[in-house]
Amino acid sequence: MYVDAHAHLDDPILAPREAEILAAAKEAGVSLIVNAASDLPSSEAAVALANRHDNVYATIGVHPHEAKTYSDDVEVRLIELSYEKKVVAFGEIGLDYHYDLSPRDVQREILDREIKLAALLELPVVFHVREAYEDFNEILERNKEYLSHGILLHCYSGSAELARYYVKNYDAYFSFGGALTFAKHKDLVLAEIPESRLLLETDCPYMTPVPHRGTPNEPKYIPLVAEKMAELKGLSRDEIEKITTENALRFYRLKI
Ligand SMILES: [Zn+2]
Ligand SMILES: [Zn+2]
Repeated sequence: MYVDAHAHLDDPILAPREAEILAAAKEAGVSLIVNAASDLPSSEAAVALANRHDNVYATIGVHPHEAKTYSDDVEVRLIELSYEKKVVAFGEIGLDYHYDLSPRDVQREILDREIKLAALLELPVVFHVREAYEDFNEILERNKEYLSHGILLHCYSGSAELARYYVKNYDAYFSFGGALTFAKHKDLVLAEIPESRLLLETDCPYMTPVPHRGTPNEPKYIPLVAEKMAELKGLSRDEIEKITTENALRFYRLKI
């Protein structure tokens, strides 16, 4: 079985086809999906989705794009949601200087605040970082004591050197999706990451792997990413399936 460690099934592109998408995922061997939140409404939606399906779990949190929507009221509701059984992590939170959809100083302030909240709730943290590694690393360092429940760098886009740094200094996991099938230099990055730290994700409906580029991504495409990871890591697809599933279950503290 595979785990899709990071999906957005509540996205308006996918939500109308929820039943069909989950059935296709199962058929493809993707039997567990963690649905990631990006703001308060999607945190609510992720929890509702997880409560509808045994094999779907949820994260809660506010994405850097939406950092400007964070408030005391949002925080109170996130704390309430954290008590839901199917909530397995805090995220996706982080910094995104590519789109700058929230001002950078607001992104940094909210990231700092959400890391501390995640620690209070004793949840592992899922990070989204794009073109902001310098500031991100500084915030991580400053908050190291709050990150003892594990961190996942989702859709990891950093360098091989940085990957080594995270492995050495944090309880860090890395998830990879469709970008493995079309981005360059991923072999160098993967070489730095121990097998015990690798996860598979779709980030659907985005990041569709080759050969389905141009159509919405879905969990059923996870085996294509596994195939590519296997090739780059010099392992078989079965080995990648087993390893990444064990890692996802460990990171999200799931027992099945
Ligand atoms: Zn992301
Ligand atoms: Zn995402």
